[in-house]
Amino acid sequence: MTTLTAPVSVADLLISQRAYWATGATRDVDVRLDRLRALRAAIVGYQADIIDAVRQDLGRPEFEGYFEVGVISELDYIIKQLPRWVKPRKVSLPLSQQPGAAWVQPEPLGVALIIGPWNYPFQLIISPLMGAIAAGNCAILKPSELAPATSQVLARLIKTTFDPAHVALVEGGVETAQALLAEKFDHIFFTGGERVGQVVMQAAAQHLTPVTLELGGKSPCIVDANVDLEVAARRIIWGKFLNAGQTCVAPDYLLVDERIKDELVGALQQRLASCYGDDPAQSPDYARIVNDRQFDRLVSFLAQGHILAGGDQERSDRYLAPTLIDGVSWDDPVMQAEIFGPILPILTYRDLDEAITAINQRPKPLALYLFSRDRKTQSQVLARTSAGSVGINDVILQIAVWDMPFGGVGSSGIGNYHGRYSFDTFSNLKSVLKKPFWIDMDWRYPPYGDKVKLFRKLIGLS
Ligand code: NAD
Repeated sequence: MTTLTAPVSVADLLISQRAYWATGATRDVDVRLDRLRALRAAIVGYQADIIDAVRQDLGRPEFEGYFEVGVISELDYIIKQLPRWVKPRKVSLPLSQQPGAAWVQPEPLGVALIIGPWNYPFQLIISPLMGAIAAGNCAILKPSELAPATSQVLARLIKTTFDPAHVALVEGGVETAQALLAEKFDHIFFTGGERVGQVVMQAAAQHLTPVTLELGGKSPCIVDANVDLEVAARRIIWGKFLNAGQTCVAPDYLLVDERIKDELVGALQQRLASCYGDDPAQSPDYARIVNDRQFDRLVSFLAQGHILAGGDQERSDRYLAPTLIDGVSWDDPVMQAEIFGPILPILTYRDLDEAITAINQRPKPLALYLFSRDRKTQSQVLARTSAGSVGINDVILQIAVWDMPFGGVGSSGIGNYHGRYSFDTFSNLKSVLKKPFWIDMDWRYPPYGDKVKLFRKLIGLS
């Protein structure tokens, strides 16, 4: 592999990556596999540092720290499938195009920019990186400055694993991100909020650079009367309160059939107590809010509605108890923006139509959850709502099926990734048509004469 001197500025970094890309080295599938295996070994080697970093940044329990290291399960899948994905994908020809052959040949895009958020600060840089490398690209990474310990571990891991001309990491905040965005990349992959997503897209437009925007939003969770309440409560509490609610696909709020609301609240309260004890501040299994700004924003929501559980807080520790609230309306601030923290509003509906209408009046969410045994209810919700992904009778886990695309729709995002979809996102799917010389039908050449009759037939007119 070509080794270039470590560059100093963003512009130099790009020049060195472009030079490396132009050598064609990243196109070699064995090189890609080798680099992906090196990345896997590095993640395994750094696992204790990664877990310690997310503990420092987010007070993450060890178990939830492993969600970051868990990217290796997707990485193993990519390593296994890559030799198949890089192959040309044969396509059949319409009669009018025969004889000949057609195929789709994936090719790398060039140099990708990957910008990450703070909530899963390791995973959300490394997972897109795996796709970028698998597809044969160079990449520059910009992790979130709001998870500084993880940013440092990422910087060390990348530096010790990759030639910076292939993969490099730049630490920093908004200014660094803007300096990067001023440059021309071949793809920009951004995970973060809607507002910054607009900034990224505007910057990309200057160079007509394609973007993938993995954004957020309010992901609803409908709970029908026909459910196993205990299992539903178990799954909802886990999905909402892991990482103290700072998960982009966490259920943002519950929409519950009014007939079972009291019973469900009881089951949720019980479940909270059995997961986190009487005082979750003492639980080793409960994370903290990332910073004071987020903490203050979340605490301001507690002035709305009635607290059914939790509500305790300690600013010095950025501790906010897992909290259930009801008595809020769609117009309250807590229902106007993505909560992104450990507050779960519980709203009710009288019939499914009402729930579906309420969801459809709002921006399309990143995820939508439905708890119901009833197949008709399941198909109604699937047919009449739109979301990036759907979980039926469970939450979050739909994003860990590597053969399914992960992304938003409408204001929750543009494009998708994971597994094969990551490979395609970072590839140009080049269409190739190949014709032989031995036959050259003349139906398309002037003089046209009465060839129009034949042409009308060919396009399907009688
Ligand atoms: P953010 O948009 O504030 O920041 C994301 C990144 O953008 C950071 O690296 C930051 O340095 C950079 N940035 C911030 N301001 C910028 C600017 N003005 N110009 C250029 N770059 C800028 O997001 P966040 O607070 O880190 O993350 C929370 C959001 O991310 C939530 O909305 C959440 O739903 C979303 N999210 C989405 C997914 C997903 O996969 N769809 C995953 C995690 C988080």
